Amino acid sequence: MTTLKWSNVYYKPFTLSDSSGLLDRPLIGDMSIDLRTPINFEDRNDEVTIDALIKAGFWLKHISSDSCRPQLAYHVFAATRRPSYLETYFPLVKSLDKDALKKFHKTINQVLLHPGFDLHLLKIAPVLEREIWIKNTASPLIDFNDYSEYICADNIRVIPALAYLVAGYIVELFFFRQDILNRLLNSKIHILLYTDQNSFKADGGAAGGCYNPQKGCVQLVVSRLFEGFNQPSPGVAPFLHEFGHLLDYFDAGTAKATISSSGWLPGMRPSHGELFIPEAREAFIAGKRLEMQRYDRQVATADGLDPLPLGHPYVFQNNSEFIAGYLEMFFRNPHAFAAQNRDLFDGFARLFGQDPRQYWDVDFPFYIEQNRTFYKSGQRPRPHGLKLETD
Ligand SMILES: [Zn+2]
Repeated sequence: MTTLKWSNVYYKPFTLSDSSGLLDRPLIGDMSIDLRTPINFEDRNDEVTIDALIKAGFWLKHISSDSCRPQLAYHVFAATRRPSYLETYFPLVKSLDKDALKKFHKTINQVLLHPGFDLHLLKIAPVLEREIWIKNTASPLIDFNDYSEYICADNIRVIPALAYLVAGYIVELFFFRQDILNRLLNSKIHILLYTDQNSFKADGGAAGGCYNPQKGCVQLVVSRLFEGFNQPSPGVAPFLHEFGHLLDYFDAGTAKATISSSGWLPGMRPSHGELFIPEAREAFIAGKRLEMQRYDRQVATADGLDPLPLGHPYVFQNNSEFIAGYLEMFFRNPHAFAAQNRDLFDGFARLFGQDPRQYWDVDFPFYIEQNRTFYKSGQRPRPHGLKLETD
């Protein structure tokens, strides 16, 4: 029996040391694990066999051409189906009591069963490669679709653990705003994941991930769902960022995805009906105005002196990047956010009905440091493309 402390290993990638397959020696981080004996997690009083881990994780490894390397926590969840193993992906749960935690997982299951949760994991290959490729990936659970030049397979039903993870990310955002979640689901939450970079590009994916207004969906390479989780406390959050764009393009009033950015989150406009929270809107406007003024000063002077804007010049390009970028910072560096721009922080906190400072002891420092470094470098940022909406 291999005995490990869960709290020391859950965030380490679980891999097979050789891409050739199952018979090789598995690794947790860079630690080699004995294939023949189960792993016992002494601080959880639970054990899992290596065989179960490999079986559960093999599909994702295989169909992503080994580009997706999830952490041990994901693999153990996939093998055991015990949802508590996945909780380190959702920082919010640290603040939930037993009953609330039950409700959290129950809500995830409701999202999974809802027809409005429209999640796909696509592998796309040129038709020319069709024969070899079908032979390698064919499974009775995969939906095949012919494109004109490409063949596309939807793998999501093969990997239910992945759907649970995505639903969990969404429930974490709206755990205290079930009303917004319902409105999104009643419209449709449309997410396209791709097994690899080539599939992502073949289907029109841009940059490292994107929101596609024409398709009305988030597009993301599957490996990015796990980015930022390779240390005990979560870091970068690409899914959260792209989902922020989806929220910006979602008109909660008509419950429809629109083709242009609104500059608002659902619940910030009077037209959003019973979702509307006037205090969230007022705080957001005041806070955004302040960020714009601070940014304008850097455009004019590049003096690098406090108070600096919290966000990187990247998020000042347009209203949609502003929403996506500050959403990410609200959930990853809430302390610095609240300290520097209390109004803007309150705008998000009132809207989501939660204060992430309650479950973050220390901010994820990367965004803050990287952004400050830019403003302190003496470079003059480009004028912003933001608008303070008034509707
Ligand atoms: Zn963006």
